[in-house]
Amino acid sequence: MSDEEGSLVEPMAVAVHSCRRALITIGDSVLICGSGPIGLVNLLVAKQFGAKKIYITDINAARLKVAEEMGADKAILIDTKLSDEQNIEKVKKAIGGRVNAAIECTGVQSSIKLAMLLTQSGGRAVLVGLGPAEVTIPISETALREVDIRGIFRYTNCFPLAAKLIGSGELNVKPLITHHFKLKEVTKAFEAFDRGEGMKIMVHLHD
Ligand code: NAD
Repeated sequence: MSDEEGSLVEPMAVAVHSCRRALITIGDSVLICGSGPIGLVNLLVAKQFGAKKIYITDINAARLKVAEEMGADKAILIDTKLSDEQNIEKVKKAIGGRVNAAIECTGVQSSIKLAMLLTQSGGRAVLVGLGPAEVTIPISETALREVDIRGIFRYTNCFPLAAKLIGSGELNVKPLITHHFKLKEVTKAFEAFDRGEGMKIMVHLHD
């Protein structure tokens, strides 16, 4: 694989771990919250693990467009002007109920709540996103419906599969790479990141 693809083995390993923790299998419906790089590699891996329907959310329409191009069945815009309940209803309607598994990739409280409430009874809600140390979650409903809340910390024994999936060409991570800068332009790279532009920004050591 190219150096650029190689640099994405690490985030891909995060997705391998979270999809394993989410027990994604053939025919599953999956809700991914957050269409950043981690949400998008989860989209690729969930599909590879056999998920039949993959829904993805974000507050950023440009990022949802990339998710659609990368194979999301439905990309749903979270409207920050709406209440949590209104957004949950909006997503529930768009996905036609609840999903077998949710993979939360924002760390934002309202999105964690949405992921838990839209996971079916007995399903799996995996918390990947890292936000505040403490958040309020709908614990009674989630516990009474026997939703398994599972955390992840990066990966364990996931690099071999992540590297194989990219190296074999089975998964295409190139759409994630949106910006390129030379080493001498590194400040510009950080400025672009600061403006929230693009997805993965590459700084090339060689011209
Ligand atoms: P990112 O910031 O690029 O992506 C997060 C996305 O969430 C953004 O596109 C943002 O617009 C979207 N978002 C914000 N609020 C939202 C909401 N209410 N609903 C839906 N979408 C919303 O980050 P990333 O690189 O994709 O990483 C995602 C998260 O995963 C981060 O919190 C990161 O720290 C975490 N992470 C955790 C582990 C782990 O081991 N647990 C490993 C890697 C990354």
